[in-house]
Amino acid sequence: MPHSETTPEQQEAPSRTQLTPTMEDTTLNLGNGGLTDEDLLMADVDEVESPPVVAPAAAVEQPSSSPASKPESADEDDAPVEIKQETKPEIKLEDLFEGMDSDDSDDEFSNNKKDVVTGQIPPSSPGPAAAPPTGGSNPDLLRVFYQLLFPWRYYFQWLNHSPQPTPDFKFREFSLWLAGGVVFRFQSYSTLDLLRKDVFKHLPERIEIGPIYTANPRDRKTFRNSSAFRPIAKELCFDIDLTDYDDVRTCCDKANICIKCWQFITMAIKVLDRALREDFGYEHIMWVYSGRRGAHAWVCDRKARGLDDHKRKALGNYFSVVKGGEKTGKRVNVRRPLHPHLARSLEILKEHFLTDVLEAQDPWREEDRAEKLLALLPDIKLRQALKEKWEFNPGRSSTAKWGDIDSVAKTVGGVNTKDLLEAKQDIVLEYTYPRLDILVTEQKTHLLKSPFVVHPGTGRVCVPIDTSDLEGFDPLDVPTIGGLVNEIDSDSSSLVKKEDGDEDKKGAEWERTSIKPYIDQFRGFVHGLLREEREFVRVKREREEEGGGLDF
Ligand SMILES: [Zn+2]
Repeated sequence: MPHSETTPEQQEAPSRTQLTPTMEDTTLNLGNGGLTDEDLLMADVDEVESPPVVAPAAAVEQPSSSPASKPESADEDDAPVEIKQETKPEIKLEDLFEGMDSDDSDDEFSNNKKDVVTGQIPPSSPGPAAAPPTGGSNPDLLRVFYQLLFPWRYYFQWLNHSPQPTPDFKFREFSLWLAGGVVFRFQSYSTLDLLRKDVFKHLPERIEIGPIYTANPRDRKTFRNSSAFRPIAKELCFDIDLTDYDDVRTCCDKANICIKCWQFITMAIKVLDRALREDFGYEHIMWVYSGRRGAHAWVCDRKARGLDDHKRKALGNYFSVVKGGEKTGKRVNVRRPLHPHLARSLEILKEHFLTDVLEAQDPWREEDRAEKLLALLPDIKLRQALKEKWEFNPGRSSTAKWGDIDSVAKTVGGVNTKDLLEAKQDIVLEYTYPRLDILVTEQKTHLLKSPFVVHPGTGRVCVPIDTSDLEGFDPLDVPTIGGLVNEIDSDSSSLVKKEDGDEDKKGAEWERTSIKPYIDQFRGFVHGLLREEREFVRVKREREEEGGGLDF
């Protein structure tokens, strides 16, 4: 199995341990009194393999010995955003199950519905290291969120690609991140109900999605030293994080964001989305807000899911234009003539460069920052003349300085105009072109935070981003778990039991909250994907009937 390095975030967060439950682990856990008799009576095999409490030290695998996920755990270093809840939601347990059934109304895949309704209250404090509950890790809010607001049915359809549970779902790795730093890796579920049951039980503050394996990830240890257990499919993913823009944004830094610096994410989405569609022919691309300071792309086309790591790496290289770190000097060195992808990207980005970078960020106003611009320009005479001009005009804006480059070049004379144009193009790309966490793209085994989970620090839901209205997306306006639960709470009509029994008319609780447009968008996306999957199955069947399937 591909093994990736521990990320710096993991190294900085030693309390964030990863747990891979096994039968041995479970034994240790039971010996430690982790499960009650009642738990055992209710447990099926899946549950026994996922103990609900912090494991004893002996059962904990250090992060470096597991395939790495790329947690945004640096987020946890920052002061959590407290979601103030004026009134505790007065929702009775039976009302929660009522709503769950509603969301589940046409879920034909539920063969175990009664078992879900255990009424069991998951532990609210899973371990001694548990942080004080914020909106995103408050178990009471999470319980309501997962039971009434999480779009389970579409989520299952999205990952399963078919009405009946397939290996795409059954052999998919999920990981559950519990408050207190425990992570259950290699979880898998043969039905949606089993997944949901586990989530209701543990109330994870984060769910991550891994690849589809050749066999059940829970059985992986029985395949030790065998190639029979290996990852075979995964959505092609991209991860953009604003912290990678700290050297070009001036409004915020680290985990802080505002609408001004969010524009870097907007430009990145525009460039990547268009290239993925036009250069690679992908159609089913979902962009998801990561809950704080970034966005993820999930390319879900069948042909993207089947890419091996070699091809994923090639794709990652295709988009690796800004190279090196902050201190590496000139970070963009692209060949001429420009690749059509870069020429098109420049067209998309140049307007953003003028408004969202030069005007909004004003990155070269201070003298030391202007030095950085000078270092990216050719011709020593030009650099010297600009330096003198700007020293005489302290505080000159970045927009004015950008304009000075051409005008001063003319007065200096002898500057190679082609070199200057290319240098300016490289600068635009360096300041605007998408900066990717490349491991997320290159490795099928890399876990990525699931859509629709709640960011534990901000309480914001990781909602899909509507690419037809990118300018209209404001990450600070995204629904929060506390706000959503209050919306349910204040909408008393949602708790009135309707008599007509028509679940569609009755509607689910989420339909009366501000998460509705995001779930509607997700539903539309999933329907589009499923249409293509059905077509694929139909064509495959026809070909098999015609040619015995030899050419497929
Ligand atoms: Zn900002």
